[in-house]
Amino acid sequence: MAKIKSLFAQTWVISEPGKYSSVKMYLLVGKNKGVLIDSGYGKLDLAALVKSVYDSDVIILNTHGHMDHIGGNRFFPSFLPSAEMDLYKRHSDPDFLKAQKLSVFPRVQVNPMDFDRIDLGGRLLEIIPTPGHTQGSICILDAQNKALFVGDTFNFISTWLGTEDSTDITTYKASLERLLEIAKEYGINDFYSGHAFGALHLRTLKDYHHCCEIILGSDKKHRFVDMGLNKGFNTRYRFSMITWQRKE
Ligand SMILES: [Zn+2]
Repeated sequence: MAKIKSLFAQTWVISEPGKYSSVKMYLLVGKNKGVLIDSGYGKLDLAALVKSVYDSDVIILNTHGHMDHIGGNRFFPSFLPSAEMDLYKRHSDPDFLKAQKLSVFPRVQVNPMDFDRIDLGGRLLEIIPTPGHTQGSICILDAQNKALFVGDTFNFISTWLGTEDSTDITTYKASLERLLEIAKEYGINDFYSGHAFGALHLRTLKDYHHCCEIILGSDKKHRFVDMGLNKGFNTRYRFSMITWQRKE
């Protein structure tokens, strides 16, 4: 299977197999430069893959600091939300990676993402802060193409809010509400996440929002699961499940 394939005009998805699930990275290109959203576990030669479809300047925007989104940062200049720097240091630490039985990737210097929009040349991307999965998680809005790149803010079937870096549910719910407003304003129905095959749709975003309402609205006991880095109560609505620990 091709590791890089076209998604829509001037936009490609790169797939990397991983320990927890397949990782998706997205290459978005304008007239002047390109952006690679996330960089996976660092197992792929991202320079060669990008070059096979686009041969000009590229920068990486990391949606957050988890190890499966930062591992290939060595291939291009990289930018990470400032609130994720500490997490980046921990998840690029060779001892941490070895303890998780993950391949060790080179830790490189990353730049703080001190801008809230980026113009690729006729294609403007907006950075949307969406704390939840991690404190500094961001989404990237490509309004022109009616697409939102959501990192791990919500995923197919399961979203991790049970890590030591996740926020409480109230904060996460507010982030989802921001995305719902943006979706309404720009008529967006396609959401590209860090692990889903193909686009997730508005229905899924609404289901995750409903999941938050279930968690906040009842004292019902939920099943506790321990999946190592992600542990907590599992709350499901239709095909969307949140693992969470902190209610408030
Ligand atoms: Zn993550």
